[in-house]
Order: sequence, then structure tokens, then C-alpha cells
Amino acid sequence: MNRRAFLGSLAAPALLPSLARQNTAPALEWGTAVLDLHCHLRPQPASVIAHLDGAGVTKANLLTRGDVRARVEALQAAAPGRFTWFASDDITDPGAAERLRQAVGQGARGFGELKFHVEADGPELTRMYALAGELSVPILVHFQEVDHFPGEGTWATGYARTFDKVLEAHPKTIFIGHADAFWANISADYKNQAAYPTGSIIRGGVTDRWLAEHPNLFGDISANSGNNALSRDPDFTAAFLERHQDKLIFGSDCGCADGHGGGVSQGNNPAASRMAGKCVARETLGLLKRTTTPAIFKKIVWDNVHKVLKLEP
Ligand SMILES: [Zn+2]
Ligand SMILES: [Zn+2]
Repeated sequence: MNRRAFLGSLAAPALLPSLARQNTAPALEWGTAVLDLHCHLRPQPASVIAHLDGAGVTKANLLTRGDVRARVEALQAAAPGRFTWFASDDITDPGAAERLRQAVGQGARGFGELKFHVEADGPELTRMYALAGELSVPILVHFQEVDHFPGEGTWATGYARTFDKVLEAHPKTIFIGHADAFWANISADYKNQAAYPTGSIIRGGVTDRWLAEHPNLFGDISANSGNNALSRDPDFTAAFLERHQDKLIFGSDCGCADGHGGGVSQGNNPAASRMAGKCVARETLGLLKRTTTPAIFKKIVWDNVHKVLKLEP
């Protein structure tokens, strides 16, 4: 086994400190520190750190599912101070609430991502909204009304029809919206016609309105969904970023190997082929940098997430 393969295969926390010495925070490539809200835990810890370093990302919030605390702790030991985490569980299982409550007791900073074939205002998610409010942690939900491939199914459905009532019913819960339907609905003409609609934005979409009207709604700009939405109409985007400068949070949801677009960045999602060969983190950080002021850039990539996750800067 060569040294690289050995590092990649490390799982035992006791072996990881040697990795830490090589993985201090990178130089500030983007002019300011960056936290990636939407970083899925990967099977190999070295791969997560390689993505951060490659993309110039300082810290990340790991999205986990099930009991993976040992893997989270291994990463935290390997790169001290660089990782926080969110917990998720099968919310259709009656024991999920108790396990999520436990995860928060063990240090999870929020719930997410919650990606399930249920209705956005159905009983399974509603229980989680209430629990997140009770525990004072944010909840990150994947909303999607259009399949990426035949048979995929839809996720947290009915967002554009019902979610304002959810926001009103849970004023103490901090919601972080994410994915296709959340972002497609920045345009008022969206009727679930495509996963990632293109063309100029018709002003007055529900996501734009609800970000302004509901103090408990935030937006995660990760993935092709966030990048695509903010790439459609540069005039709209500049004003949108300014309008919601305190409500938007940078995330990547990038699966690429190296923070430079190697490997596969958006799963095998044929609808997101515009991201093939690209690192979503780099693409979106570049887009933000080109489109907004340094002060707003810093809020979106660093300050806002620290407030919402209650992190020390
Ligand atoms: Zn997602
Ligand atoms: Zn990447």
C-alpha cells in the first residue's frame, strides 16, 4: 500500500494526528475565511480534507446520517477546529427524534440534510421542525419536485404551496432551505417544469419573498441548484445577494475529488451536467466574488453561518 492509499484508508482516530500536521487551515485564497455549510461526510477522512484544501475552504459543516460519530470525531481530531456537524436520521422511523435529540447532546449543531420522500408540511417533517425549535438548532431541508432521472422520486414536496404556513407555525425554528425547488422558486414563473430552470428571473418568486418576510428562513446556496439559480440573471443576482445578505449561507454539496473538479462533482445527476469537471465550491465562490461586494461576500461565506450555527468566529 503506498502512502497515499494508506492515508486514504485511515479510520482509527488514534492514527489520525499525523494527518493533522499536514492539514492546518489553508491560506486565504478567497480573501477571507470560508465555511462550507454543506459538506457531506465521505467514507475516507483524507478525502474530505483534500476537498477543503483544494477549494480554498477553511472550515466545513459535515452533513451526516445515522450513527457516524466516530468518523466525525476522527476528522475533528485530524484537522482540529475545522469541522462542525449536523445529524440526520430516517425521519419515518419513530425512534428518529430520540436519536436526533441525542446527537445534539453529543455536539451536533443542527439537523440535516433532511432529504426524504415526504411532504414538506407532512407529519414526519413537522415533528422534526418542532424538535429543532425545542432544541434551538437549525434544520436544513432538501426540496425537489422534479426527478433527475426516471424513478428518483421527489423530496419534501409542496414547498411553494405550503411552506409559508410552516414558517409561520414554527416561529422559533430556524429553517435553511436547499435544493431544486427552493432555488427554482426565486422566479415567480416556476411551475415545476424543470429541475434547474434557465433564463431570466421573473421578480416576485416565493423564495425571494419569504426570505424577506420570514426572519426564520435562511438559504443554503450549495449544489448545482444554488449555483444555477444565481447564474441565470446577473442583474437579479446582485440585487438578491444585497437584499438577503444576512440570510444566505455558502455551501458546496460538491463531491469532486480535489476541490478542482476532478472526479464527479454532482453525483451522477444528468440534469446537473453543467457542473461536470468543475468544483461546485470554486464555481459558487467565484460567482459570489464577481457579483457582490467584499463585505457581503464575507457575510455569506463566514459571518451568517456562524450566527445560525452559534459558532465562535
Ligand atoms: Zn440535497
Ligand atoms: Zn469540489
